[in-house]
Amino acid sequence: MDRYLATLEHEQLLVRRGSRSGLYCIVAVHSTVRGPALGGCRMWRYGDSRAAVRDALLLSRAMTYKSAAAGLPLGGGKGVIMLRDGPPAGAARRAVLLDFADTVDALSGSYITAEDLGTSARDMTVIAERTRHVSGLARARGGSGDPSPYTALGVESAVLASLERSFGSSSLKGRSAAVIGLGHVGLRVARLLAKRGATLVASDIDRAKRDEAARLGARWATPEKALLAPVDIVVPCALGGVLDDDSALALQAPIVAGAANNQLADESVADVLVRRGVLWAPDFVANAGGIINISVEFAPGGYDPTLARRRVRGIGDTLRAIYDAATDGTTPLAAAMELARTNLAESST
Ligand code: NAD
Repeated sequence: MDRYLATLEHEQLLVRRGSRSGLYCIVAVHSTVRGPALGGCRMWRYGDSRAAVRDALLLSRAMTYKSAAAGLPLGGGKGVIMLRDGPPAGAARRAVLLDFADTVDALSGSYITAEDLGTSARDMTVIAERTRHVSGLARARGGSGDPSPYTALGVESAVLASLERSFGSSSLKGRSAAVIGLGHVGLRVARLLAKRGATLVASDIDRAKRDEAARLGARWATPEKALLAPVDIVVPCALGGVLDDDSALALQAPIVAGAANNQLADESVADVLVRRGVLWAPDFVANAGGIINISVEFAPGGYDPTLARRRVRGIGDTLRAIYDAATDGTTPLAAAMELARTNLAESST
């Protein structure tokens, strides 16, 4: 099979070479059925332009399902700035950001950009010079700011709903959790769980995070050991692909719920987990706190952090509904996709 294959079910795909930077700026709009297509701008190096386009196509599709499952009035889109060399700085960075902004503006609001891998809130401020279709600006500029605390809050809700499902109680007192990846989201999740009384195993490839872990009283472990630790819940907050056939069979924890995107190496791993009696919170549901927070920017009264927190906590209710639907061998993944499809179908009629 062609490894570049990506289904073309998208509404729009715009590829432009930036007049200032000479770099490709790509925007894929997968769906605007539920609202404008929101998705981050990834600034990344790719082997060739097909790989960059493919990334935009696949990631925009995933955004459609993520927002639909969360019940947001948003569609799915994604931006990619294809780098030739390392990340640009200074005038070169500004040039490519303005080129990307022109590409976003050419879509007249059917796509709204935000920060993603390789871009920052400061980059969004530059993009905002040329287009108003940008979200996630700093709070001081009327935006919703850093999404990570809200993503962490959503993961906490996912953890509590999953504990309740498996153990009949959401209490973390006397429970243990292994948090893998102590970055912007993971460290916050670890703090929230420690505050609720959980005993922690913590892990990161960056050993500088060890001090933070010690402050939370966590036991330090390698990422491989943390994943297979005999804890009540594993909370992946680093890279995707951690759950493959081997790790799914070797897991000792009865629950996996975390922020990392694309946790399953392959969708079939969801079946392996169900067969083993492991409860897996679909990643795109558990980690939707960031996008739910951004969506509050479009609420009638403008951005309001209290409303954002309330809506993010709704992730627990969404997961409970998914777990209710995932009976008789149906996986939580299938139930979450079905919920997203139902929400999409309702919006298209
Ligand atoms: P981050 O870059 O701030 O943190 C990632 C952490 O994981 C770093 O400390 C890094 O050293 C560590 N890490 C990398 N590879 C590792 C490995 N193999 N084993 C253990 N640790 C490893 O990223 P983040 O913003 O905290 O995001 C974490 C995950 O959550 C990512 O998968 C991201 O796509 C996803 N996510 C984040 C948000 C958000 O709001 N930031 C929203 C949705 C999803």
